[in-house]
Amino acid sequence: MTGAPVAAAPVATPENVFAQAFLQATNAILITDADIAGGGPFIVHANPAFCRMTGYRLEELVGRSPRILQGPRTDRKMLDALREHLEQGLPFSASTVNYAADGRAYTVEWSIAPVRAADGVVRHFVSVQNDITARIAGEQERRLLLQALNASQDPILLTDRKTRVVFANEAFRRLTGYAADEILGESARMLYPSPRERTSYRTLRTSLRDGKDFRATFTYRRKDGSPFYVEQSIAPVLDAAGRVTHYISTGKDVSERVEREHHLLEIASRDSLTGLYNRLAGSRMLDALIGEAQASGRPFSLILADLDHFKAINDSRGHQAGDDALVAVGGILQAGIRGGDLAIRWGGEEFLILVPGCGIAQAMELAERLRAGVAGAQIADAGQITVSLGVAQLAAGESAAALLQRADDALYRAKSSGRNRAMVAEPG
Ligand code: GH3
Ligand code: MG
Ligand code: MG
Repeated sequence: MTGAPVAAAPVATPENVFAQAFLQATNAILITDADIAGGGPFIVHANPAFCRMTGYRLEELVGRSPRILQGPRTDRKMLDALREHLEQGLPFSASTVNYAADGRAYTVEWSIAPVRAADGVVRHFVSVQNDITARIAGEQERRLLLQALNASQDPILLTDRKTRVVFANEAFRRLTGYAADEILGESARMLYPSPRERTSYRTLRTSLRDGKDFRATFTYRRKDGSPFYVEQSIAPVLDAAGRVTHYISTGKDVSERVEREHHLLEIASRDSLTGLYNRLAGSRMLDALIGEAQASGRPFSLILADLDHFKAINDSRGHQAGDDALVAVGGILQAGIRGGDLAIRWGGEEFLILVPGCGIAQAMELAERLRAGVAGAQIADAGQITVSLGVAQLAAGESAAALLQRADDALYRAKSSGRNRAMVAEPG
């Protein structure tokens, strides 16, 4: 090879490599003698990082005891343990508060090791130190935040971007009945409620995707399956670059209020005499079921039932007997329908049965069963009572009013052809 002569590199003897490493290390390094018996150890050497950390110049340190760094908040028990270790020639790691030249307290973490000479005798100690004040402050802040989150009486949930639970505060755990290890890392979906609120969740996902927060009252499931209601606010947590990293969800348990509302709604939708749905609730249900049937194409039928010669019962046995008879008939109708059917007290002595999913043949069978049930019952003061019924199946595009009118016409025909019978409505 040809070219310019290469300048000779400085020879890297162990001595000058160690010296340069000592001088340039970012850890503070302190070397003391091992003169424990004579009131020491005394400082032999300190590197520039040590001088920076303590604010002392090297000349101020050499020959002094490291005790000059100690002060009121220095951990005395730890110093005793340190001394014991050093006396036995053992290494020791710990942290405590020390004081810089200007009196400023800092938290230091150190590892001290005995340094044995060739003859095996401990002649020095080397101490590698770090100022961990900022780290301790960070930890204290973290602890404070955690305590604050757990002190909150409202449920707080933090999930990652994929809605896996990262943190749940104590109120959240109390409310749901889940222990921390049962939900941490799990999908928040396990708390998701009934499918009825799917639209809510769709809106939630869209808002969050757009970086917006979302507020709504959610139904959640406890570990035991029981529902609870949370007025909730969910917001995305962004990193410095504006990307969503987590979601924070804070809420207020509004179960008591929601359950009271449900209870009031239930009371308001019931007929006080028979306990069946009243006309207001019933007509809402009728509209909803007709809407569903028209949308799905599934059949829907209804039965209108009217007590026969009911006026005569009132007149001969009194109004109270009439009321009791209405309760009894209502009970027979309620007991005779299937789970998905609805029994409504439609008027004074008129009942409406909604039969979703059934065509006219099945609805007629049901009407006939109900008729026979009423006719066969012995009703306290009233004796035997009969009902007449009109049965109609919803036609495509038909309104609730038109359907009811056809059932009413069929009922009228049942009355005029002798009562105590069910009649099919004219096709719609
Ligand atoms: P029909 O077989 O033609 O239906 O004869 P009806 O006597 O049942 O018919 P009408 O409509 O003439 O009489 C209905 C009666 O029902 C009138 C009313 O006094 C009675 N009624 C309506 N609501 C109540 C109620 O809440 N309690 C009682 N006890 N009677 C009621
Ligand atoms: Mg009537
Ligand atoms: Mg009647």
